Amino acid sequence: MSRFERSKLLVQKYGGSSVASPEHIRNVADRIIACQQEARHMVVAVSAMGKTTDQLIGMAGQVSSRPVGREMDQLLACGETIAVSLLSLALQDRGVPAISLTAAQCGIRTDGSFNKARIANVETGRLVHELESGRVVIVAGFQGITSDHEITTLGRGGGDITGAALAAALQAPVCEICTDVDGVYTADPNAVEGARLVPELSYEEAIELAASGAKVLHPRAAEICMQYDVPIHVRSTFHRRQGTWIRGGVMENAAVVGITSDKKIAKVTLLEVRDEPGLAAAIFRDLAREDVNVRLIIQAAATHDRNRITFVTDNDQVDRIKELETAWRKRKIVGEVQVDLDVAKIAIVGSRIASTPGLAARMFTALARMNVNIDCISTSEMKVSCVISRQDLDQAVRAVHGEFFGTAKAAGGRTPASKRAATSKPNTRRTTAKTSASRRRATAS
Ligand code: ADP
Ligand code: ASP
Ligand code: MG
Repeated sequence: MSRFERSKLLVQKYGGSSVASPEHIRNVADRIIACQQEARHMVVAVSAMGKTTDQLIGMAGQVSSRPVGREMDQLLACGETIAVSLLSLALQDRGVPAISLTAAQCGIRTDGSFNKARIANVETGRLVHELESGRVVIVAGFQGITSDHEITTLGRGGGDITGAALAAALQAPVCEICTDVDGVYTADPNAVEGARLVPELSYEEAIELAASGAKVLHPRAAEICMQYDVPIHVRSTFHRRQGTWIRGGVMENAAVVGITSDKKIAKVTLLEVRDEPGLAAAIFRDLAREDVNVRLIIQAAATHDRNRITFVTDNDQVDRIKELETAWRKRKIVGEVQVDLDVAKIAIVGSRIASTPGLAARMFTALARMNVNIDCISTSEMKVSCVISRQDLDQAVRAVHGEFFGTAKAAGGRTPASKRAATSKPNTRRTTAKTSASRRRATAS
C-alpha cells in the first residue's frame, strides 16, 4: 500500500488512433511504464480502438432506421470496454499491476441524456483505493452511468471529457491528452501544410478553437479543466516532446490563435415566417425541445409582413427539422423550410478578435482573393466565422491561414510511426512558464 499523493498523480487520455491496433496498445503500455518513472500514480482514460465507434454506428444503421437512445449507448460503450481490458492485459503482461474499470465500476455518474450525457460527478473512492494498492488504473473513456444504473455515453469525442473529469475529481496537477498530432496547431495539420504548433493557449482560446471545429480537444474537456484549474497538456502519443499547454494565466497570445473549419453543418432557411411577436420564440422553443443545436441566427428585415430566418445547425439534425417543418406549416408559422447541406464553416479564433480592428477585413480579403463567396457571417468576442460553399472550404482554410500565419512548411503534424519510441523524459509545466514568451512568437501577428 502506498498513500495516495495528488502531487504524484498523472492523468492521461489516449485517443482512438493511439490504440488503433494491438501493436499500438503494446506501445501505449510501454509509454505508460516510461511515464511511471516520473509519476507514482497513474490514471489513464482510453478511447475505443481506431474507428470502432464509427463501425458500431454503421452496424446499428444496418439494423435500424433510427439508431438512437439507450440501446446505442449500450452498444457504443462496448468499444471503450474492449480497449481498456486490452491495455490492462498488456500492462500486466509487462509485470505492471493494472486494473481496467468501466465508468460504472469507477463511478462516473451522468445525467440520463443518452448519446450526449453530462457528467454530474466522479466518485473517487475506488480510484484512490486502486492507486493506493499500487495499480495503474485504466478507465473506459466516453462512458457514464446514471443513478438508475443505465449506461450512457458523452457524445462523439467524449473520451477527452472523461480524462478531464478524472483529472478534476482527483485534483491532478495535469491532464495529458495524448493523441496522433503533436498538440494544438494553428489549423488542422492534416489539412493545412503550413500549420504551426501553438505552445500555449488560455482555456478560453482552447474552448473557442475546439467548439468551432478543432477536433483535437473536446470543448467540454477544456471547460471542466478551466472550472477546476487543471492545466491540460495536449501532446503526441508517439514521442515525449512538449505539445500545447492550456491553462490559466496566459497573458497575451496573438490576436488570432487559429483557423478552424467545420464540414458537419447544415444551413436552414425558414421562408415566409409570419412577422408577429412571439413567433421566433415559438420556432426556437420547438427547436430546443427537439434538441436541435442552433449556432448562428440571421433574420432578414421583414417584407410584406413576412420574415426570413436563417440558422446553422449540425448536419445530423436535419431529420428533426424536417419533422418540425410539417408542424410549422400546419400551424401556418412558416411557408417553407430550405435545408442546404453543401455548406461549411470557417472561423478565425483568438482572445483579442473584438479589440483588434481589421481582422475580419483581412479574413474576407483572403477569401475574396480565392473567389470564395461568403454566405453568412457571425462575430463574437473571440471569433469571426463565415458560412461558405463546402467545396471551397479546403482552399479557403489554406488562404486564411496563409494570411494570418504565412505558408511556411509545418514542422510536422502527424508523427510518423517510426518515431513512436517514448524514450526522452517528460518535461513538467514548470518549463513552459519560462519559455512561453519566445514560444508565443510562433503565433499570428
Ligand atoms: P484522438 O483519437 O486522439 O481523440 P482526434 O482524431 O479526436 O484524436 O483528434 C486529433 C485530430 O484532430 C488530428 O489528427 C487532426 O487532424 C485534428 N485537428 C483538427 N484541428 C486541429 C488543430 N487545430 N490542431 C491539431 N489537430 C487538429
Ligand atoms: N470512441 C468515441 C468516439 O469515437 C469517444 C472518443 O473517441 O473520444 O467518438
Ligand atoms: Mg478525440
